[in-house]
Amino acid sequence: MKHTKSEKLYQAGLENLVGAVNSPVRAFASVGGNPLFIERADGSKITDVDGNEYIDLVLSYGPMIIGHRHGRVRRNIRKALIKGYSFGASTKSEIKLAKILCDAVPGMDKVRLVNSGTEAVFSAIRLARAFTGRDKIIKFSGCYHGHADSLLIAAGSGLATLSLPGSKGVPDAAVANTLIANYNDLDSAKKHFAEHDDIAGIIIEPIAGNMGVVLPEDGFLQALKTLCEDNGALLIVDEVMTGFRSQFGTAHELLGVKADITCLGKIIGGGFPVGAYGARNEIMEMVAPLGEMYQAGTLSGNPIAMAAGIATLSELRDQNPFAKFEADAKTIEGALLTAAKRHNIDLVINRYGSMINPFFTKIPVTNFAQAQTSDTKKFAIFFWAMIHAGVFLPPSQFEAWFLCSALSDEDMAKIVKAINKAMQAVAEA
Ligand SMILES: *Cc1c(COP(=O)(O)O)cnc(C)c1O
Repeated sequence: MKHTKSEKLYQAGLENLVGAVNSPVRAFASVGGNPLFIERADGSKITDVDGNEYIDLVLSYGPMIIGHRHGRVRRNIRKALIKGYSFGASTKSEIKLAKILCDAVPGMDKVRLVNSGTEAVFSAIRLARAFTGRDKIIKFSGCYHGHADSLLIAAGSGLATLSLPGSKGVPDAAVANTLIANYNDLDSAKKHFAEHDDIAGIIIEPIAGNMGVVLPEDGFLQALKTLCEDNGALLIVDEVMTGFRSQFGTAHELLGVKADITCLGKIIGGGFPVGAYGARNEIMEMVAPLGEMYQAGTLSGNPIAMAAGIATLSELRDQNPFAKFEADAKTIEGALLTAAKRHNIDLVINRYGSMINPFFTKIPVTNFAQAQTSDTKKFAIFFWAMIHAGVFLPPSQFEAWFLCSALSDEDMAKIVKAINKAMQAVAEA
């Protein structure tokens, strides 16, 4: 398998782009080698500029849940394109997407559409602060909530538990109101409430996906909700990755917890830049123009993005592929564990619905510190062997693999074969 054209483009890209990428997760820093440049994608497959075809388990980090270039989505986008691209005024399509979202998320009466998950989350936090009149936020180590200043702390970086920024350029003052707790450790959140009486809310990924997949232990999310209720704070659930991933709706509903504010993104734009935050009327009425919390956007509710989101979600609802996702993820889990066992390689699998993650470690992974015990060198070998066997994975030990409904039985057989080869490569390294 040749990657010469990708290598050339990478060199060319270095001149005017930072590291030849527009998001650092696309760099191949942790697996070595150069990033692949993509030419096109269709259904379950993605093709690089050298003409190599891969089964795509990245799916743009989640959004392409019904596969690439689905006919229904393409038709809806084309219909919207003919009418114009952006108006700076409201369109019917915004009402349509908002209704799909509010119908699917219990307790969410109103929603505000924005352009990214980052925007959705930092706006939700501003809203929680406006509603409660308090400043402090609790976030969990290893959870990623976009790149806003106040949330770039213990965000999958090595700075866990210290109240220090996880990026240069973030002033200490910007994270002074961000308190860090440990995933699946209720006491670490309780402690903050004991020490502070000005906590506006807790933000959490209901299924963590940005330190690898980490599941909440039974009752953990409910206990956080109770903690919020007892202390007049709000539970902000960041469903940017998990929303519409494991059912037609949210993961927190599946897990039996009620959110005060829900953040959405990724899938709801079907591959276009869309985010959303929503809550019950009492909370959303704080948002301008109804209330005094200001949040705006020139391109928010963009009609092309709305067309992609509406068609993607409508098709997803009709297909209802969630049982198939569960079966496919189980097959992948089985293949990984069997191959690892055959070669005496320590491996732990976490999965939830169509998100799955193998950790090259021997201890159960229930928080960020445990995730970090993974052998990233083994992952790098595994990653490149999978590429050479025709399966495109996220280039990091700490990113979830995603499944789409376009995966065929043939694709699944190819993935299993690739896993066997890749695990053998790890054993022989
Ligand atoms: C991807 C992601 C974000 C950020 O969304 P962007 O669209 O990249 O800004 C926020 N929270 C979670 C949980 C995410 O997975």
